[in-house]
Amino acid sequence: MSDESVETAFDTFLNALADGKGYYLKCMNGHASLPPRYGCPDCGATDLERQPLPDVGEIVAMTTIRVPAPAFAEAAPYVLAVAKFGPVRLTGRLLNIDPDDDTVESGALVSATASSVGDESFVAFELR
Ligand SMILES: [Zn+2]
Repeated sequence: MSDESVETAFDTFLNALADGKGYYLKCMNGHASLPPRYGCPDCGATDLERQPLPDVGEIVAMTTIRVPAPAFAEAAPYVLAVAKFGPVRLTGRLLNIDPDDDTVESGALVSATASSVGDESFVAFELR
């Protein structure tokens, strides 16, 4: 068990992603989850081990956000995607893409990183 706050744990995760050292958490029963997490969402185990996040993920869903949360108002419209990295799914913003470009589809390969708008950091994806 760690004393890190949920916010700090998420920042730690984003910093690791930005450094190309993303990770996910695995419990002793092999369940995978994403930080911040103090217990396995599947079995409640609190002994979670960091595993390296695969370098390449595959987009499984995406949507264009035209009316975002206030903190991201300036960035809209942008593309939000869910990508599968091995056993975990990350949600993040797809960078360097025209929101009206409909040539990017599910199955496209991305790498995960972190980006920010003002003080708000978030998970971001770059097309490979
Ligand atoms: Zn578990």
